[in-house]
Amino acid sequence: MRFLSLALLVAGPLVAAAQPAVDLEPYRPAVERIQTAALADSAAYERMAYIGDVFGHRLSGSASLEAAIDWILDEMRADGLEGVRGMPVMVPTWVRGEESAELVAPVSRPLVMLGLGGSVGTPAGGITADVLVVGSFDELASRAAEAAGRIVLFDVPFTTYGETVRYRSSGAVEAARAGAVAALVRSVGDYSLRTPHTGTMRYEDGVARIPAAAITSEDAALLRRMQERGATPSVRLSMGARTEPDALSRNVVGEIRGRERPEEVVLLACHLDSWDVGQGVVDDAGGCVVAWESVRLLHRLGLRPRRTVRAVLFTNEENGLRGATVYRDSVGADASNHVFAIESDGGAFAPVGVGVTATDEAFEMIRSIEPLIMPHLVESRAAGRGITRGGGGADIGPLMEAGVAGAHLNTDAVRYFWVHHSPADTVDKLNPGDMAKNVAVMATMAYVLAEIPERVPAGPSSPGSE
Ligand SMILES: [Zn+2]
Repeated sequence: MRFLSLALLVAGPLVAAAQPAVDLEPYRPAVERIQTAALADSAAYERMAYIGDVFGHRLSGSASLEAAIDWILDEMRADGLEGVRGMPVMVPTWVRGEESAELVAPVSRPLVMLGLGGSVGTPAGGITADVLVVGSFDELASRAAEAAGRIVLFDVPFTTYGETVRYRSSGAVEAARAGAVAALVRSVGDYSLRTPHTGTMRYEDGVARIPAAAITSEDAALLRRMQERGATPSVRLSMGARTEPDALSRNVVGEIRGRERPEEVVLLACHLDSWDVGQGVVDDAGGCVVAWESVRLLHRLGLRPRRTVRAVLFTNEENGLRGATVYRDSVGADASNHVFAIESDGGAFAPVGVGVTATDEAFEMIRSIEPLIMPHLVESRAAGRGITRGGGGADIGPLMEAGVAGAHLNTDAVRYFWVHHSPADTVDKLNPGDMAKNVAVMATMAYVLAEIPERVPAGPSSPGSE
């Protein structure tokens, strides 16, 4: 049964079929139970805190990641979820080692730093060199003659993540092309209490592999001021970073099998791996627990929707996306059995809405669920409130490329980049009430899209979306 607007009724059934809207009435009683139960429960927060406190951060290839996976698999089985399994994934293993940076001239002072993921180390004893501070790749190009033999510091203020992160990911390659011996980057974050932020970086074949690290925005500003006064700051950088052979990890899968079309899947996604600092809960253990709790809640309430609702806690999002690739390969290149995928990877703060990338037809169908989640959404400058165009996630990216309608659970993430990939990504940044609301929203989306008779249509997203 579909709710049709008057205009569509007048236009006739062909047009109406292109603009399906879900009649929400049949789903309201179950959704009411889902949301009441979600909001009465602090299990999501408790489990997030347990993962952060007991296992700590979880870099790909680490024992702590695998220990957390073992615990979650046991808990999911105890929860009574179905199809609980660890899907084997070979992941890169990067090890930070001992590291430090120090200003040695014109004054001597320690710098707060974090090596970038994937970086090579320095020779024993470190690298000591004069620093060239630049504010952009263009400035480096115009001053390339000064860069040879130096450490290049990219002191680039945060604008957007996509814009600013280029200096973290490509800074070492561009600095090496100019003959630099190491690269430093101002941490990618929009607020700092002298917080260093790590993250992945890459090398290019044919370009020298030089060590790369982030320093805090405060320390970057210090070096810039020295250079502007006519001094040449000199830094000693020491990094024990190395890459070891690939290690065996797992995507964690737990589900409720569909009662009528078990082969059709609504996917709830997140990533369990994290950087090797802080507790990795804002990015992204919190999102994982939201996905997991959404499935557990449906099970606990005895709800078995028409289609399968599956939580996948992906491994290796941060530095390889191997988990996402293995999962996509496991479901076939066209992923045709996946009807909808939603990822939570922006911090489980108060929910703001759901950003959707889909065909026009699929988007209208998904958007018609909006009234059911609206009461739990807040206003935020982080994202548009409600069900909006544009969104997805790294782990569901390969599925979306195959045409699966994808979405992101948007939250009031205005402080997300304060802690992202830093030692400040800790349990206290999240709270039980907001996490419970995330569960209410995600479980509602999952339930309705798994229960409605029509499946969400697949296909390339329309130009109106991202
Ligand atoms: Zn993440």
